[in-house]
Amino acid sequence: MEKGDPKETSRRESLTWTVLGYQSPYPGSGGATPGYLLEGSGHRILVDCGSGVLSQLGRYVQPWELDAVWLSHLHHDHLADFFVLQYALQTEIRLGKRKQPLPVFAPTEPERWGKQLSYRDAVRLHPIGEERTWKHGEMQVACFRTEHPVPCYAMDIQWRGKRILYGADAGPETDWERADPEPDLFICEGTFLDRDASHRSSGHHTVKEAAEAAERIGARRLLLTHLYPGYSRREIEAEAKTYYSGDLLLAEIGCRVRLI
Ligand SMILES: [Zn+2]
Repeated sequence: MEKGDPKETSRRESLTWTVLGYQSPYPGSGGATPGYLLEGSGHRILVDCGSGVLSQLGRYVQPWELDAVWLSHLHHDHLADFFVLQYALQTEIRLGKRKQPLPVFAPTEPERWGKQLSYRDAVRLHPIGEERTWKHGEMQVACFRTEHPVPCYAMDIQWRGKRILYGADAGPETDWERADPEPDLFICEGTFLDRDASHRSSGHHTVKEAAEAAERIGARRLLLTHLYPGYSRREIEAEAKTYYSGDLLLAEIGCRVRLI
């Protein structure tokens, strides 16, 4: 892991995952709920857009420079700043900084939120599902449903033989074996410590379950995310290391993983 250097560009030589937000269900002081910048093959893609993410994005890329947005599902901790991003795009298109609407790849349900994803001439919705794959340059993205109360999609991202598996939000019934084994990077949520498992809401992993899933699929590196701001990082790390023997990273704003 390295701290992100906002001036550094990695658009052509690597597949890069940068954390813009990682907390849930709400951001801690100065924090942000989930959002990530995926860079590869000359493309810059915002993956999820939670509360506080937009103010972090500008350290790396301006909103009008994005090539696409992917939303794993339509819960507010992954969606809140997307509606502000719509305003940003609308304004910057009017000012001539961008010509085309920004494509957003997302599920369409719950319908209440799905029908608000396209926005005037600023943002265009492309519904996602399991039936096909998408390409952004040489990057290929496939999706599969996770266990979650609303349609939620993990993203299996492939680029020049390197693989990132973004687990989105997912409960323990998620079938991680649907993706190819041994991803180079597995970004998995571990929202609750095992001691609080009885209090958890449905469709979420404990840290222990995330670590066990990573071990089971042979993930070379686990980036543990979707962390409750009330826990100590030391306690999260200790629980994860008990069940996962690979390279463990705990998400924090600005951390960046580069696959070459
Ligand atoms: Zn979430």
